[in-house]
Amino acid sequence: MALPKNAYFRGKIVPYSDAKVGVGTHALHYGTAVFGGLRGYWNEERKKLFVFRPLDHYRRFLQSCRLLCIDLPHTPESLTQLTLDLLRVDGYQEDIYIRPLAYKADEQIGVRLHDLTDELTIFALPFGLYLKNPTAVHVTISSWRRVDDNTIPARGKVAGAYANSSLIKTDAYRAGFDDALVLTNEGHISEGSAMNVFMVRDGVLITPPVTDNILEGITRRTVMELARTELGLTVVERPIDRTEVYICDELLLTGTAVQVAAVTKVDHRPVGNGVMGPVGEKLRQLFDDVVRGRNAKYAHWNVEV
Ligand code: PMP
Repeated sequence: MALPKNAYFRGKIVPYSDAKVGVGTHALHYGTAVFGGLRGYWNEERKKLFVFRPLDHYRRFLQSCRLLCIDLPHTPESLTQLTLDLLRVDGYQEDIYIRPLAYKADEQIGVRLHDLTDELTIFALPFGLYLKNPTAVHVTISSWRRVDDNTIPARGKVAGAYANSSLIKTDAYRAGFDDALVLTNEGHISEGSAMNVFMVRDGVLITPPVTDNILEGITRRTVMELARTELGLTVVERPIDRTEVYICDELLLTGTAVQVAAVTKVDHRPVGNGVMGPVGEKLRQLFDDVVRGRNAKYAHWNVEV
């Protein structure tokens, strides 16, 4: 993976190689950081880079900050502006991933959230596909459980909670799967290691509710809106049982990194007839047009660099 060119760090834009923290940094030891993940899409016809829904991403980022008592002197608008300033210096003419991170920056021993200094960094790097074959993904059901709201809130993108995601991902990968779905402590499907999940049953698009320990995904919200408005589908948020994904007609993963991917096998069982279905195919196409600024109706989600 290519390294970022520059970073917003300690209040200014510096070469990425100068954006360094000490090994004693609180966040590095205790996971006391929150992050975001946005994408910028290069539109080749218009020769423009569009950031997708930055205000919504930064609203969630600031909510994650509140959960960890991180106090940034910023609004969604000012964070979007910082990101655009950085991207203008970077000058990327390709698809990118943008990573804002807010962290407890003191080089101090001692678990807590209070009386520590909060810092912010943002950087971007070239980024393509996250899963190698997004139209034929094979997942398993993880033997790990999703972090619970009363353990580490999954609705915040808390750095420490990504040890849970990493356990889920690596065990699935080493067992030969592309990714895994993970259950709540009650045994309902929550989400993937770093993506939300949807299933189609009898023509209805169903996704777990925000109370089932999911990250409240921006892509999830986007797909719900596109499915309702453009495909005329009924979209329902309700708990999903483990065995429902063995008998559903289609299964989709959504997220900034994974975008919209079709799961065609769960635990070696074919989903539907084992190939991407019509809802997945239509949503993938629609999503790509929308994020690249090719659909005027949703142009308000594309912020030009
Ligand atoms: N769940 C988890 C655990 C994630 O890390 C992500 C990626 N940010 C998502 C879901 C998808 O969220 P979004 O669509 O906002 O990227």
